[in-house]
Amino acid sequence: MSKLICVYCSSSDRLEAKYYAAAEALGRALAARGWGLVYGGGRVGLMGRLARAVHAGGGRVVGVIPEFMRTKELAYDEADELVTVRTMRERKRLMEERADAFVALPGGWGTLEEIMEILTLRQLDVLRKPCVFLNQDGFYDDLFRFFEKMVSERFNKPSNLHLYETARTVAETMALLERDHPPVAETKWFVTT
Ligand code: AMP
Repeated sequence: MSKLICVYCSSSDRLEAKYYAAAEALGRALAARGWGLVYGGGRVGLMGRLARAVHAGGGRVVGVIPEFMRTKELAYDEADELVTVRTMRERKRLMEERADAFVALPGGWGTLEEIMEILTLRQLDVLRKPCVFLNQDGFYDDLFRFFEKMVSERFNKPSNLHLYETARTVAETMALLERDHPPVAETKWFVTT
């Protein structure tokens, strides 16, 4: 079945070459697998490279972009479908709805905010779609350590650390996306008696 994979990633054009290479490799791999991309609709940064690579491989690109970004000419107008929304919130909702699975490539606040919303929905069991971090060269190691601190200080439950998966490479990311049955959340709440 043809899936749409939602990828959150950096909008920066000032990264080391290896990050663009990974985004392009992921785009090629998605297209080769016959899967489409749903993403923030940008033409800049990792987003632009990813979308162009999906297209070059013959894959489908769905962008969801807020009006104010479109008018700033940040949009990837070549997308097969470019949905214009009013707010960042609408955009996230639409991306979440359309996606069959989520991948976070390295990114900044925007990327983190988007993927954290997915984890928050996963822990509430409102959403059951797979969620993979491509932890390229350990980019997200500090974040995962922070997650462990949340658990050791009991702000989060150990079982929640199984609600996302991590990959080191594009090949590992694709293998994880093939597995269609992500673990289901226990109740979010600690029981206080
Ligand atoms: P950041 O990680 O802060 O660079 O933000 C990237 C994420 O925020 C992407 O996954 C997008 O959904 C959104 N975003 C930020 N800047 C843009 C932009 N110029 N065009 C499209 N989406 C953007």
